[in-house]
Amino acid sequence: MKQILPVLADIANGIFATLLAGWITNTEIFWWHFLVGVPLAMMPDLDAVPELLRRGKVAASSDYVYDHREGLHYPAVLLLVGIVLAWLVGFFGWLFLIATMLHFVNDSYGVGWGVAWLWPFSRTRYKCADRKVNQPKRMLVADGVWEKLSVDERRVRFIVSWSEEELPRFIMRWGRGDWIDKWYLTRNWVSVTEYLLFMCSLFILVAFLLR
Ligand SMILES: [Zn+2]
Repeated sequence: MKQILPVLADIANGIFATLLAGWITNTEIFWWHFLVGVPLAMMPDLDAVPELLRRGKVAASSDYVYDHREGLHYPAVLLLVGIVLAWLVGFFGWLFLIATMLHFVNDSYGVGWGVAWLWPFSRTRYKCADRKVNQPKRMLVADGVWEKLSVDERRVRFIVSWSEEELPRFIMRWGRGDWIDKWYLTRNWVSVTEYLLFMCSLFILVAFLLR
């Protein structure tokens, strides 16, 4: 059941994307539009399905040094497709564009190993407001490794990046198989932000549908 928790931000993104696309294209929004917008906001994570079916979970760690974001997490491609679709089909094109881009924005500050924003020019992953070890201080202290980190490793950077070569090494050392428990069943700025976004989107959705 806890597997639903990382998806809540995508549900919020789908709701926001539907309303935004409707506003941009001056389209009247019906309830079923949200049933298109929410799956579109989840769509990039379809690249996690093979791992989920094979292992029963999705987690890049020393047990499995592979991050699923190698399949569909290429913003430049989806940006281009989205722009063409927005131009060709209006509302649903805008919905595709906004929903997928919000997904990548979420992946760039939330949990995980960032997004290759510059692909196909570079496979380097980028993420906002994080440490290179990709864990909050509370987790590092609890694991007894905070004191062993250098000042540089402790530092939260505005933009942190992992090159294609170094990513497996970092996943091997710092990836966590229990990431859902550690990130979503504790209070940290990512879980609080995502839960607030979800509650806010639900409130707006209900207000919109009952208007
Ligand atoms: Zn994703």
